[in-house]
Amino acid sequence: MQLHCLGTAGYHPSETRHTSCYFVPETGLLLDAGTGIFRLPSLLKTDTLDILLSHAHLDHIVGLTFLLDILYQHPLQSVRVWGEAEKINAIRTLLASEFIFPVELPVQWCAIDDPDHASGNQTFEINGACVSWRRQEHPGGSIGYRIHWTNINEPNSPDSGATSRVLLYATDTVGATDEDTLHWMKDVDLLLHECNFHDHQVEWAIKTGHCYLDRVAQISAAASPKRVLLTHVNPIDELTLDKGDERFSMPCEIVSDKQVIEF
Ligand SMILES: [Zn+2]
Ligand SMILES: [Zn+2]
Repeated sequence: MQLHCLGTAGYHPSETRHTSCYFVPETGLLLDAGTGIFRLPSLLKTDTLDILLSHAHLDHIVGLTFLLDILYQHPLQSVRVWGEAEKINAIRTLLASEFIFPVELPVQWCAIDDPDHASGNQTFEINGACVSWRRQEHPGGSIGYRIHWTNINEPNSPDSGATSRVLLYATDTVGATDEDTLHWMKDVDLLLHECNFHDHQVEWAIKTGHCYLDRVAQISAAASPKRVLLTHVNPIDELTLDKGDERFSMPCEIVSDKQVIEF
């Protein structure tokens, strides 16, 4: 499978990074709708698009308004936007004002904590993928997603024997280190984790509800993913990572815009 990094910055775009947006073309799954979503049209290969929102801070939702243009270029049968009910309601209220955006978006809004769409046990299904979620600590709250695809048949993938893939997306979080959450995060193929701050900026990380490198290292050591991708990079003071950083026992890198990750 492939994960396309369409936007890897936190807060606002820079000359080289757009804000949070990641895409798995095989299943039409998009993680967050930051400014990076403008890169989506040429990558669409399914009739459907499912957008999982971590939360409703503007850097993760501004790109929803770009959907009109994207759908004009590449019409789709269905577009569903998933998130917590109160965040979905806040976005819909905002976009319902013609002072903010001129027309209604042609999407279906799906609350993950709505019993009609979710089974109530924080797990639901999207196009054959099992998605489970947990609430994270961040101003206003955010959601971490664990996405499990099964019955994958991809002879050219790096691990051709495997028939399933698991991706964990945790952004805009202080980084949970409790036993329950770490158990939930265990043994994934890709851990796509935010790291907005350097180690010397712990105070800012705590103040703004974000992670710093040592916290992500601690989480990675406990959850043992096959690979760690650091993202939600601070656009004005980009994170750096030493190649031989011994706190990570698995491959770990800071992802870039337009990077394609095979997993
Ligand atoms: Zn953010
Ligand atoms: Zn946020």
